Amino acid sequence: MSERKYGSEFGFQTRAVHTGNDVDKDSGAIKRPITMANSYELPYDPSDINWSSSDKSLYTRNGGTNQKYLEEKIASFEGSDDCIVLASGVAALSGLFFALLESGDHVMFSNVTYVAAYRLLNELLNNKFKVETTIVDTTDLEAVRAAIRPNTKLVHIETPGNPTIGISDIQEIAKLAHKNGALLSVDNTFASPYNQRPIELGADFAIESLTKFINGHGDAMGGSIAGQKEALDKIRFQSQVNLGGTISPFNAWLIMRGAVTFPLRMKQHNENALAVAKFLAGLESVSFVSYPGLPGNKGHEIAKKQMEKGFGGVLSFGLKADKDTCNEFVSQLRVVTSAVSLGHDESLIVYLGENDERQYLYPEEFHQGFFRFSVGIEDVEDIISDLEQALEKVGLSLKVV
Ligand SMILES: *Cc1c(COP(=O)(O)O)cnc(C)c1O
Repeated sequence: MSERKYGSEFGFQTRAVHTGNDVDKDSGAIKRPITMANSYELPYDPSDINWSSSDKSLYTRNGGTNQKYLEEKIASFEGSDDCIVLASGVAALSGLFFALLESGDHVMFSNVTYVAAYRLLNELLNNKFKVETTIVDTTDLEAVRAAIRPNTKLVHIETPGNPTIGISDIQEIAKLAHKNGALLSVDNTFASPYNQRPIELGADFAIESLTKFINGHGDAMGGSIAGQKEALDKIRFQSQVNLGGTISPFNAWLIMRGAVTFPLRMKQHNENALAVAKFLAGLESVSFVSYPGLPGNKGHEIAKKQMEKGFGGVLSFGLKADKDTCNEFVSQLRVVTSAVSLGHDESLIVYLGENDERQYLYPEEFHQGFFRFSVGIEDVEDIISDLEQALEKVGLSLKVV
């Protein structure tokens, strides 16, 4: 049986189905098995083995087979040389930051990021290890330009940003970073590589929380760092062998399975989220909608340039209502579930109250409390009807402006 390779000559959907899977040599099974072992047999003479190596099958913390299959698939999604898959999106962020940054280096990062990125950089690395940090509104290129210093090692952006959905220009920021000898990492979780591929746009690293759209079923956690092989080797070694962020074989297998339908689901997320954004934007009782697919959105033009197939499945919005009414609105929803996380098959909503420690960093309209809404792949009519009935129950108008 010849080895079947599914490289870039094939379309995205073909690669989602085939890349990383092959006929199992031992059993002939057409799906590769889960290897639930934590050690691998040593060669006859192991005396010249590098015990800390992460590319040989040795010990599962150093790397395992299911992880490697998934790495092939994610690298093919990202259009990158190589990829590291880890236990969670946060393991990917911490793996990247800890491997790359030294005391005295400067990092610039988006004012709106996943909270762990903010804490890792601004609290842990800054307080404990004297890494200098600057928080910048990276949707503003002039602000990025002004914040670069001679010792800037890394620019870390998130676009769309969690949770305000602001859009930063990956191509332009990559140029600015590289001109000044800095690297660019992009947390691509909200867009997903189906819609946006930061490496192709000039970034050095693309981070995904695989927990979200790529697995898509809300039942496993994982994270990935895509980039050039040479740069990733050091990160792989630190994040797995020394920091212990290795993904379990079972989670890698679950994500591998979820990822098969990732492009199909993403099409539906894009379509449903745009329809929901348009519906909400038309209502008198809605104070604002932030979704890059809306023509009036501040980031729309840049999003059109860098988000190839759609604008993603997540939006945020506000209601002209007090806190109690907002909580009651959520409790009346029947199709949409109130829970954190996003990118699952099912619609998930979170009411983010007025106490977020970083609210002062967000644009004005987000200061009063708002909703982050991950629009699922249910029938969009059912999602919209669910919103309508909940709005009516709490006495909010369905009047269209
Ligand atoms: C969820 C999320 C993460 C963290 O991923 P986990 O898998 O939960 O560790 C990082 N970045 C963004 C943008 C996220 O939404």
